Amino acid sequence: MTGNVPTVKLNNGVEIPQLGFGVFQVPDDETTTAVSAALEAGYRSIDTAAIYGNEAGVGRALAASGLPREDLFVTTKLWNADQGHDATLRAFDASLAKLGLDHVDLYLIHWPTPARDLYADTWKALEKLAADGRIRAAGVSNFQPSHLQRLLDTSDLVPAVNQVELHPGLQQAELRAFHTQHGIATEAWSPLAQGAVLNDPEITAIADRTGKSPAQVVLRWHLQLGNIVIPKSVTPARIRQNLDVFDFTLTDDDMAAIAATDRGLRTGPDPDEFN
Ligand code: NDP
Repeated sequence: MTGNVPTVKLNNGVEIPQLGFGVFQVPDDETTTAVSAALEAGYRSIDTAAIYGNEAGVGRALAASGLPREDLFVTTKLWNADQGHDATLRAFDASLAKLGLDHVDLYLIHWPTPARDLYADTWKALEKLAADGRIRAAGVSNFQPSHLQRLLDTSDLVPAVNQVELHPGLQQAELRAFHTQHGIATEAWSPLAQGAVLNDPEITAIADRTGKSPAQVVLRWHLQLGNIVIPKSVTPARIRQNLDVFDFTLTDDDMAAIAATDRGLRTGPDPDEFN
């Protein structure tokens, strides 16, 4: 537990808070305020990426918080244009400098970009960063089973995490089963589908009955499935609300009702096509 948030133990023993804070689409100058509000509310895990252009804003909030480094869990991601072994090492140095840190807790290859055919080579650079103690865990994002299998076939380092689009509209059963089989933790991006599932009648009905908001119901669904979640908000009341999901439980019927809303709803790019 960190605060009242349970942790998930990754395949190398490192523990990640099951609920963290995402900062996609938050401008750098607003990121410090948002991350400071999240840390104040009790979040200890922050998810950024080089391409978000706000690693410096995250770093300023971490420094200003005065929290001990070991209480924080910081994730950033390698952008597509920087794939390849040496370019990855350079990009990592740049991210670290912007964050003002000497290591990150989790470093992810942001997209497989299969047409570039560089992700296996890129993974070798993450192996080096892990061996050198500059990242506590190495993972990937938006990898399909075929991309994961390629890494399993060419490396002894099994990704600790695959961060993928996952929410009630896109439940990713096949991918989640592959993760379970290979000891890869499932992390859900756009866990609220950027709001697109919050008016689903199955979800609003549970919200009405439990006295929780639709977003809280959706986050609770993720947590009960075992997913790691990183909801984003720049609204202070929502930042606090999204963390307040540990005092109620969805029933088996609730979980089944939400399972039935799966509908192939992709809000982001298709990982097989995005290069
Ligand atoms: P989310 O599913 O977290 O939804 C964010 C949206 O929902 C915002 O518009 C926010 O509004 C709104 N919202 C947040 N909380 C509530 C609430 N309690 N009630 C109603 N509305 C709410 O979307 P994201 O795409 O931001 O995904 C979360 C994180 O995942 C990102 O920030 C990023 O860290 C990561 N991500 C990773 C990707 C990858 O390729 N690896 C791709 C996309 C995201 P407001 O801010 O105005 O309050």
